[in-house]
Amino acid sequence: MGGDVLKPDLCVIGAGSGGLSVAAAAAQLGVEVVLIEKHKMGGDCLNYGCVPSKALLAAAKRAEEMRTAKPFGIAPTSPTINPGAVRAHVEAVIRAIEPNDSVERFTGLGVRVIQAPARFIARNAVAAGAFEVRARRFVVATGSSPAIPPIPGLEEVDYFTNETIFENGEKIDSLIVIGGGPIGLELAQAHHRLGSRVTVLEALKALGKDDPELAEPLLARLREEGIDIREGARVERVERVACMEGGEGAPGVRVVFSQAGSEHTLEASHLLVATGRKPNVDGLDLNVAGIKYDERGIAVSKWLKTSNRRVWAIGDVIGGPQFTHVANYHAGLVVRQAVFRLPAAAHHDRIPWITFTDPELAHVGLAEDEARKRYRNIRVLRWPYHENDRAQAELATLGFVKVVTTRRGKILGASIMGRQAGELIHMWCLAISAKLSIKHMTAFISPYPSLSEINKRVAYGYYLPKLASPLVRKAVQWLARLG
Ligand code: NAD
Repeated sequence: MGGDVLKPDLCVIGAGSGGLSVAAAAAQLGVEVVLIEKHKMGGDCLNYGCVPSKALLAAAKRAEEMRTAKPFGIAPTSPTINPGAVRAHVEAVIRAIEPNDSVERFTGLGVRVIQAPARFIARNAVAAGAFEVRARRFVVATGSSPAIPPIPGLEEVDYFTNETIFENGEKIDSLIVIGGGPIGLELAQAHHRLGSRVTVLEALKALGKDDPELAEPLLARLREEGIDIREGARVERVERVACMEGGEGAPGVRVVFSQAGSEHTLEASHLLVATGRKPNVDGLDLNVAGIKYDERGIAVSKWLKTSNRRVWAIGDVIGGPQFTHVANYHAGLVVRQAVFRLPAAAHHDRIPWITFTDPELAHVGLAEDEARKRYRNIRVLRWPYHENDRAQAELATLGFVKVVTTRRGKILGASIMGRQAGELIHMWCLAISAKLSIKHMTAFISPYPSLSEINKRVAYGYYLPKLASPLVRKAVQWLARLG
C-alpha cells in the first residue's frame, strides 16, 4: 500500500446514524477508533432522510393550517409558497443539527476521522485515502441508497430520489411519485401542501407494511386532501415530454402505467422515485475480507457478526428494518460486544416505526395478523380519537389506537393512526420492552386533557367484558345492599 498504517482497536466504516453512534460511544469509553466516511458526515438521516423530510413536512403543515383555519373562526388564507425559502428552511434545520455529526466533534472525542472511500484489502485491513487501517475489529455501517427499478425510459428522464429532492428550490407544478411506501407518501403530502399537483403510483398496496385497518383510513384522508393515490399501478415506461404546465415547452415526464387491465398515461413536470432501498456494498471489496452478502445486504448472525469474525455490520446495510433508530440500537449492541465483551443479540420484534404523514401512523410490536399466527387466543382493543376531549378541542378526531394482547393481558403490539401518533406510541414502546401488562397501562393518573389519554382508555377496554359479566354485576348488587 505504501500509506500510513493505523492500528486502532476499532475501525468504523460509514458515518451515518449507526457508525457515528458506535464511534462516539466507543471513543468516550477510551477505545481507539478510526471512522471512515467517503461522503457527508451524518449520512442519509441528516442529509437526505429523516431530518430534511421532517423539516419539509413542518413547512407543509404550516401552509395547510393557514388554508384550513376556518373551523376555528379564523379566516383561511391561501399561502404564497416561496420554494427557495422553503429549501432554505430545510437547509437551516440540517445546519443546526450538523455539528453533532461533524468531523470536528468526532475529532474532539478522540476519533480519527478519514474522509475517503474505504475498501477491504485483507480480512483485517482496510485502505482509505492515504491510510491503511489494520484494526482489531471493524464495523460496516455504510447504509443504503434508493433502489431504482428497471423501468424502460427511466434513465433517459430527469427524476428525483430522496437524495436530490431536498436540494430543489424551484416550484414543482406537478409531481408523479413512483412508490407508495413511507418515503413516497410523506413526500407526496409535503409537496401537495406546498402547492404541487401530486399523483402516487404504487405497484401493490400503499403503506403495505402497515396494518390495513389503520393504513386505509389514512390513505382515504390523504385522497380527500387531494393527493391522487393509485394502487395496483404497474409502471410500463417513462418518457420525456414538453410539459405544458411548467410553461410552453418546459421539460416534463410522461408515465405510462397499467391498472386493472387497462393502460393509462399521466404527465407531470417532475418525477420522484421512492421504490425502496438497496444496501451500500459497492466498492467495499467485501469478498476480499470474506464477508458474505447478497442483493438484500450483508449477512449477519443475531449478534450482527458477518462471516468474518472480526467484522460486524449494522443498520440499513444488513437489509432488515431500515430506520435510524434501528441503526442506533444495533450500535449499542456492537459497543456492548466490542468494548465490554458482553453477549448482545439483536431482537427485531419490538422495533417501532412512524410514517410522518398528517395524521401520523405509528406501530410497535406484533400486528394483529402476526399475533394471530403466534398465539391461539388474543384480545384486540380499540379506542377512537373522537372520544378524546383534547382531540375534540383541536378538531383532530380522525384516528384510533389499536392494541393487541394475549388473553392474559400481555401486551403484544400497538398501532396508532391520528394526530401525534408518533409521540403517543412511545408509551407502548416502553410497555412492551419493560414487559408491562395491560393492567399497568390503566394503573397511573393520566393528566387531562391530553391525547395520550387514549392509551389509558384503550387499556380499560381489556376489562370491559369482565366488568359486564353477570357475576360482577351480581357482586355489585350484593355490595349495594350492604348500604
Ligand atoms: P418501501 O419499500 O417501504 O416502499 C416502496 C414502495 O414502492 C412499496 O410499496 C413498493 O410496492 C413500491 N414499488 C416498488 N417498485 C415499484 C414500481 N416499479 N412501481 C410502483 N411502485 C413500486 O420503501 P421507501 O418508502 O422507499 O422507504 C425505504 C425504507 O426507509 C423503508 O424501510 C422505510 O420503512 C424506511 N423509511 C421509513 C420512514 C418512516 O418510518 N417515516 C420514512 C422514510 C423511510
